[in-house]
Amino acid sequence: MTKVDQYAVFGHPIGHSKSPRIHGLFARQTGEAIAYQAEDVPAEEFVSRANRFFGEGGRGLNCTIPLKELAWEYADSLGERARLAKAVNTLARQTDGSILGENTDGIGLLNDLTINNGIAVSRKNILILGAGGATRGIIPPLLEQQPTKLVIVNRTVERAKSIVDDFAGLGTLEAADYSSLRGEAFDLVINATSASLSGQLPPLSPSLLADGGSCYDLAYANQATAFVEWGIANRAVHSLDGLGMLVEQAAEAFYIWRGIRPDTASVIQTLDAERQARFGET
Ligand code: NAP
Repeated sequence: MTKVDQYAVFGHPIGHSKSPRIHGLFARQTGEAIAYQAEDVPAEEFVSRANRFFGEGGRGLNCTIPLKELAWEYADSLGERARLAKAVNTLARQTDGSILGENTDGIGLLNDLTINNGIAVSRKNILILGAGGATRGIIPPLLEQQPTKLVIVNRTVERAKSIVDDFAGLGTLEAADYSSLRGEAFDLVINATSASLSGQLPPLSPSLLADGGSCYDLAYANQATAFVEWGIANRAVHSLDGLGMLVEQAAEAFYIWRGIRPDTASVIQTLDAERQARFGET
């Protein structure tokens, strides 16, 4: 009998994770024999559960809230993006048994923005809302594109300043608080706060969005998030949520594990149709 390689996503909570569905679709599409399951793992159990998973022959893990910093500490070696982000969302067992940590969130966002939706980052003024783990993950690939300006605004401005200090040298980066943003307009506003998860919206002036600008919410839901609605109300050319990013970051993880790049467009389409059907039921 063919042995099926084992993969999983660890997080807490994890009940609504779409990752098993996404990797199941990738496996079917590429013909790769893998099993992928979601496991509820609180932070205090992360090391013992990861040790057990890899000890029993597991090949790779995705790690989500609140485990990305712990996964960064757990990895034996780090990819460049994970090293810079100080957060890991993908762990991969190497042939020598060591564990590689990588962060695929940023490249996932960049691919969804630029390839899937034609939203430029180079030579644009970009505003990121929030200064948590997701912001750390997306900054390196965004700065690689050399935006004209990249500003991080956060409720707790010290956290934005600390990110600016950590990433100084990679490109031009500024920290701000919401009240100091008046008078500036941005081509792309990225919501990397967790406000959408509780139906909230950071305090944003409509004038923050430049004419012809776009909005992107890292969060995703079965219906438009408060921030996606804000973008639509303020005439954003695109106002998108993070479903495409979710599929793209998963595709990068799949590539790290299997060496094969799945087609993402068909998977995004399937998930989008599934959530619309689900929303229609409620
Ligand atoms: P996190 O580390 O907990 O950071 C949360 C951030 O949100 C903090 O900067 C916090 O500000 C800010 N915040 C929370 N509520 C707010 C409010 N009402 N108004 C203004 N700011 C608020 O979370 P994270 O890991 O960075 O994740 C952020 C979001 O990205 C989540 O929605 C997550 O689901 C999403 N995400 C999506 C993907 C994807 O593939 N689509 C991947 C990664 C993350 P303070 O510092 O002031 O508390």
